[in-house]
Amino acid sequence: MIRVAVCGCAGRMGSTVVAAVDAADDMEVACGIDPAGAEYEFPVYESVDQALEGSTFDVMVDFTAPGAVAGNVAAALPIGVDCVVGTTGLSVEVLEELAERAAPGTCLFYAPNFTTGAVLMMQFAKAAAPYFPEAEVFEYHHANKLDAPSGTAVRTAQIISEARGFDSIAPGKETEIEGCEGARGALVSGVPVHSARSMGFVANQEVVFGSLGQTLSIKHVSWDRESYMPGVLLGIRSVKKLSGLVIGLEQVMG
Ligand code: NAP
Repeated sequence: MIRVAVCGCAGRMGSTVVAAVDAADDMEVACGIDPAGAEYEFPVYESVDQALEGSTFDVMVDFTAPGAVAGNVAAALPIGVDCVVGTTGLSVEVLEELAERAAPGTCLFYAPNFTTGAVLMMQFAKAAAPYFPEAEVFEYHHANKLDAPSGTAVRTAQIISEARGFDSIAPGKETEIEGCEGARGALVSGVPVHSARSMGFVANQEVVFGSLGQTLSIKHVSWDRESYMPGVLLGIRSVKKLSGLVIGLEQVMG
């Protein structure tokens, strides 16, 4: 039985992770960690330090907030607790620094998107990138999301930039009129990224490629937070066999 601590267990994603771990045969929730508190049949602590004192667990899952995740992971990794992180907003440099603190054989697994569909969207975008001079990323999320652009959008832009091997021309960026800077999106690794926030969305992303006389759109929609759960459970099952920093669900999808 894999014993799992769920950081952010009172939140939208964390509470969905609790239900998914509960329903799996090979794992159980050892405890929750959330300063907001929550009513569960397992103990819920206010901090990771308190959880490490009061409970034992093999894996800690973190779906909290960009300002909280680094502190949480920094407390767990040196003790030898593998971490599965879905909280977005951390740079690769910060993730690398955190992973350096891990006890030997311990893994920091981060996936900016735990849905198989989004991973495939990024792989299709990687395949298309060398053939199109222009690419733009449009992402749509619920209004309470704390970071913009999304972790998935940032990762997609990086993948496109690496795969195409030429500099973006980001046409029209220079035509933004005074007072409306940003109209052509934020440049992430040279790729314009546009972030919409509104009630009604969970998480959507569309990558639009353009060349002479043609466009190619690759679109992924998460209708429900349950779409992330097979990926989160796969991450929990995989970390025991991994060590150091591992980024992306594609690393464990086989
Ligand atoms: P949410 O509903 O706001 O839940 C976050 C929870 O974490 C809240 O209950 C919050 O408590 C709690 N929290 C804050 N600081 C904490 C700490 N130090 N230790 C433990 N818990 C803490 O947010 P969400 O919609 O679930 O999203 C959480 C994160 O997951 C975001 O970064 C989001 O972008 C990311 N996400 C990732 C994926 C993916 O596939 N990788 C998918 C969806 C979402 P308070 O309310 O008291 O602050």
